[in-house]
Amino acid sequence: MKKKTIALVAHDHRKADLIQWCIDHKDKLAKHNLCATGTTGRLLEEKLGVKVQRFLSGPIGGDFQIGTAVVEGKIDMLIFFWDPLESMAHDPDIKALLRIATLYNIPMACNQTSADFFINSTLMESDYQRSSKLLDHYLSTRKNFKG
Ligand code: PGA
Repeated sequence: MKKKTIALVAHDHRKADLIQWCIDHKDKLAKHNLCATGTTGRLLEEKLGVKVQRFLSGPIGGDFQIGTAVVEGKIDMLIFFWDPLESMAHDPDIKALLRIATLYNIPMACNQTSADFFINSTLMESDYQRSSKLLDHYLSTRKNFKG
């Protein structure tokens, strides 16, 4: 099985839940490469004692950096505990990350139940090939675009 690269992001009021979820699933997560936005990544390294590739903190561009990594094919899964009860200064960046992860058909868990289903899926141990239907369709419409 090829290791997956799992991106982890949590907003401040969701960080405790994400950290606890990661502690609960540490053995399974440790089989993969982990990356995260800055503060989430630092807390994960401290509490889990595992190596986490850290991007910038979300509000200063970390969500963009994860989005870029998605576009570059470097992310296999996104666990994003975003806060549904608060608006953030970087809401446009969050929307951009959710959009790009959807477009690139990245499995994306935005709450604990979804994350539970992901981590316990047999597909975690497989070399699953994501479909690129949406992208392919878009690209095919651009090929003959004349303006
Ligand atoms: P943080 O960023 O991990 O640096 O707190 C998360 C976010 O707000 O997107």
